[in-house]
Amino acid sequence: MAVTSPRTVAAILVAAGSGQRLGADVPKAFVPVAGRTLLEHAAGRFDGHPGITSVVVVVPEANAAQARELTRLTVVAGGATRQSSVAAGLAALGTDVEFVLVHDVARPFVPATVIDAVLAALESGADAVVPVVPIADTVRRVDESGQLAGPVDRSSLVAIQTPQGFRHSVLADAHARGAGTAVTDDAGLVEAAGGTVVAVPGADEAFKITTRADLARAEDTALR
Ligand code: C5P
Repeated sequence: MAVTSPRTVAAILVAAGSGQRLGADVPKAFVPVAGRTLLEHAAGRFDGHPGITSVVVVVPEANAAQARELTRLTVVAGGATRQSSVAAGLAALGTDVEFVLVHDVARPFVPATVIDAVLAALESGADAVVPVVPIADTVRRVDESGQLAGPVDRSSLVAIQTPQGFRHSVLADAHARGAGTAVTDDAGLVEAAGGTVVAVPGADEAFKITTRADLARAEDTALR
């Protein structure tokens, strides 16, 4: 009987941003919520997930020892941009890794359902996958003078979350070709390299922590 070997799936948790908008005296990933840092909350969602074989954490160089102590995971130093931090994580992966999930530690409460949906889409053959949620606010364009332009059809718009999932070779290739390209996420890099990205359902719990108000919501979510 043919035996299918289990997939090698790595998760890269990017946490090397300063989180200036939060106004904390430590980088965002090291801010405690309900007694644990955001990094520990996020790591707990991926470390031990049955579909994930390894986890790499990317943090500011000065916090690497602390991150190792807190998570006992592989920790590497990030760069000046999110893209260079993901590249540092990619450089730490073995060539045997088949799929890569890239997750913002700023979204520490991502539920397993979202991770599972991303993995399932990769298993089905997608090269790149992003979780998306509907946009609640009415959205408009403004011109340079602050004048509102015509309406935008909200039903065709979505907000992009993480983890974003990729075939390892596709992400590595997009990073090699797109170093320095001004895109805000890895799916954008894959598209810039001519690849196709598919969407799966995201979740409200995967909200991004940016401001102090988000921290209050995080306390609430962590204690639920
Ligand atoms: O800055 P922003 O909130 O968009 O960052 C999204 C994620 O990317 C965060 O988890 C942050 O820690 C990470 N990041 C990084 N290296 C940077 C900038 C951001 O790992 N230089």
